[in-house]
Amino acid sequence: MPKKYSTEKERKEARKKSRQAFQRQNREKCRQWNREWQTDNAQYRATRDREKNRELRIFVLSHYSPPTPRCRCCGETLYEFLHLHHKEGGGNKHREEVGRGANFYKWIIKQDFPLGYEVLCANCDEAEGHYGICPHKLLHHPDETRETLCKYAETVK
Ligand SMILES: [Zn+2]
Ligand SMILES: [Zn+2]
Repeated sequence: MPKKYSTEKERKEARKKSRQAFQRQNREKCRQWNREWQTDNAQYRATRDREKNRELRIFVLSHYSPPTPRCRCCGETLYEFLHLHHKEGGGNKHREEVGRGANFYKWIIKQDFPLGYEVLCANCDEAEGHYGICPHKLLHHPDETRETLCKYAETVK
């Protein structure tokens, strides 16, 4: 087969010209394709990011709760409910410094998994923050829990 173009540059130029001509003649169609590509790509990137974040979270949570992440208090294992809780408190302030979500989990890995964190589900974490102790512990240490809950009640007018 005889070569149509003598150089690579010529070939590229010719392709560019024919592409431009095609785009001129099919302006609406091209716009439509472009829009579709943008949406597909955005969706693809969103799913990929979500997948990556999920892996990252499970990786970090598993380190603090091997072999599979579970709530230290109630044993919840659905990862969507789980997060890393800073035992000393101040988690929110800390997250403002290192970032939220994926950035926080990346920071944990970079710091080589610092001590002082534990895996809790959203419910138990919320309850601990609110009452000082999660009511689940009522099942195991009724007196301790009542005392703490009473102390909390006294501070609320
Ligand atoms: Zn829990
Ligand atoms: Zn609990």
